[in-house]
Amino acid sequence: MRFPLPPNATIGIVGGGQLGRMSAMAAARLGYRCHILTPEEDSPAAQVSAGVTVSDYESPAALREFAAAVDVITFEFENVSAEGLDLLASLKPVRPSPATLRVSQDRLVEKAFLNRAGVPTAPWEAVRSLAELEAAVARIGLPAVLKTTRLGYDGKGQVILRTPEDLPRGFGVLYPKPLIVEGFVDFAAEISVVCARGADGGFSAFDAVENRHRDHILDLTLAPARIGPATAAAARDIAARVAETLDLVGLLAVEMFLCRDGSVLANEIAPRPHNSGHWTIDACPASQFELHVRAIAGLPLPDAVRHSDAVMKNLVGPEETARWPAILAAPGLIPHLYGKVVANPGRKMGHVTRLFSRGTLPDEAAIQAALAAVTGG
Ligand code: AMP
Repeated sequence: MRFPLPPNATIGIVGGGQLGRMSAMAAARLGYRCHILTPEEDSPAAQVSAGVTVSDYESPAALREFAAAVDVITFEFENVSAEGLDLLASLKPVRPSPATLRVSQDRLVEKAFLNRAGVPTAPWEAVRSLAELEAAVARIGLPAVLKTTRLGYDGKGQVILRTPEDLPRGFGVLYPKPLIVEGFVDFAAEISVVCARGADGGFSAFDAVENRHRDHILDLTLAPARIGPATAAAARDIAARVAETLDLVGLLAVEMFLCRDGSVLANEIAPRPHNSGHWTIDACPASQFELHVRAIAGLPLPDAVRHSDAVMKNLVGPEETARWPAILAAPGLIPHLYGKVVANPGRKMGHVTRLFSRGTLPDEAAIQAALAAVTGG
């Protein structure tokens, strides 16, 4: 198959969650079909796709069957084994590349990559023993954050170390997994930039947004972030530098800390659509999902512009999901539900977007009032 992918070509998506679902919906609008690889029966992505291979991500036979059914392969789930990735890449084009995925799979590789690319991060060190942790904390200072290097998300696999007594306790919780310790950033805000890069080097970035977490899970995104033009440019430059250095083909989110002195530190990269970009479905002519599909299909990349400012609120767990009838009845809330049957605590079930005319993102109280149907407030 040659690029650009012609209409009716099939995009293979590894992972069956909401990111795959919304990518498949954007792909359908551009005349493509999607085929999902997921271990889950009745997954959010497969519900809206032309085909599905239900299997774990490791079985060579299933990976071959999946690859045979598609023209290009992309990911909404990053933690496929190196062997699985290599097998897929030997069969069909994989975008973003396996090398890009490997950087994002391991926090040590990721932080080393960022620093090598000239992107500042919190100070960090690898930890293989309690003695190494103590030595690292002697250099980095307290508080610090101890994290597993792999498979951590939504705050899972991390412990904050505030006092010297926390070191053996935190180490005991996470060991024997490979670990990284980072300096704790007393940030003013968390921001992120979602950007896309094409095979021809074309680059598009949405403006930086502000992200608020609750119980380590993204709760609210404010678009744009309330930051000055110099900070916005610094955040965009970091995203551009990361995309360029990775030779990215596809979509990328960079999560960053805005420090109290105005400097910006990168925390994490995700070479896929990102929760902090969901607002773009409703507030932009071309969403993050459309840019993702365009980049991997070799189509022209439009500018990542927005026609409106926006607030996005996640619907997490049973309580917020129970607000669905009120959300549907509330004027101005744009509802999105992901087709998940069971609303376990902490599970992302959907989101709502509220649009505001460009340049009129309101103050905190007005935002809370606009979301009253979701929060019950
Ligand atoms: P992560 O899994 O690295 O994205 O971390 C999840 C969340 O934990 C981040 O969004 C921050 O709210 C918090 N966090 C992670 N690392 C640090 C750090 N070095 N300093 C302060 N907060 C952190």
